[in-house]
Amino acid sequence: MTRPHIPLRLTIDTGAIADNWRWLARTGGGAACGAALKANGYGTGAPQAARALIGAGCRDFFVATWAEADALLPHLGEARLSVLHGVAEEDMAYAAASPARPVLNTAAQVRRWRGTGRPCDVMVDTGMNRLGLSREEIAGGILDGLAVDTLMSHLASADEDVPVTAAQLSAFRELGGHVGAARLSLANSAGICLGADYAFDLTRPGLALYGGIPRREAIGHIRPVVLVEVQVIQRRRVEAGEGVGYNHLFVATRPHELAVLNIGYADGYLRGFSGTGRARIGDVILPVIGRVSMDLTAILVDAAPQLGEGDWVEIDFDLPAASAQSGLSQYELLTNIGARYERRYV
Ligand SMILES: *Cc1c(COP(=O)(O)O)cnc(C)c1O
Repeated sequence: MTRPHIPLRLTIDTGAIADNWRWLARTGGGAACGAALKANGYGTGAPQAARALIGAGCRDFFVATWAEADALLPHLGEARLSVLHGVAEEDMAYAAASPARPVLNTAAQVRRWRGTGRPCDVMVDTGMNRLGLSREEIAGGILDGLAVDTLMSHLASADEDVPVTAAQLSAFRELGGHVGAARLSLANSAGICLGADYAFDLTRPGLALYGGIPRREAIGHIRPVVLVEVQVIQRRRVEAGEGVGYNHLFVATRPHELAVLNIGYADGYLRGFSGTGRARIGDVILPVIGRVSMDLTAILVDAAPQLGEGDWVEIDFDLPAASAQSGLSQYELLTNIGARYERRYV
């Protein structure tokens, strides 16, 4: 049987993932550099990203859940894996037999894990008020006798220039000295950009590995990872006064040539790109017009007279630019990438 043709493709540059990790590792100074692989490696494919990262020298990985750990462990060899959400009661049977470590977040998780006698990581809250034990719980001795590999905390606003980040740093520094953890870890991608003070023993980048720009310091150093290309299904002409697509969000004020592309919000090209997204052929920019629909998106192609049915165009998926176009975060853009693409790893 011949296989069906797929009219949209995603090229993942695993060499760029490795290069991005190397830059993050260098920027973190002497700290070991880990990698967040949760949400299928931010949509890029966790096993493929893991292979590239291991090749570059990464040995510490992070996922959110035990189901993610289960899928990834066969690809990690001797590397270490931590499960950020810790252990719920329902996780215990699996987790106690797994080489991965839970990141304990609550007093109940600590109680649950203590009986296993196995190593763990611990999350302490230094002001984000998301996950983690409080500083008071830790000062009260809740971790006594526990084999803590990595004590970590998470920065709430490292992508901005706000005083709370330095306050989290000093809270973490103060606490770190009192817990007998083998390693301390604070910085995500944005935190690494803040300098060596934030790196401690282990950093935990995610976004920047996959081409996201967490802060201006990363511009010019982080390479794009994801390339999106789609095929033209139909080219057409609209006259002045005619509307295009659902609810005629675009109405032509003069005659236009347009092309309808094989991509829509079901592919993660969400409706925020309606009237703001861009496709391109080389340097020629082809603006998205009208409302993005489930499977289709229209672009103006007056500037591309040769473009016809079956031709491929690139979708502008430069993450900071696409974030500005769509109002979605760089994280949302990556993790929403759909399942209909032909994926190519280069
Ligand atoms: C997701 C996550 C990271 C990675 O953050 P980025 O901003 O993507 O670099 C690091 N640490 C924790 C606890 C996380 O949940």
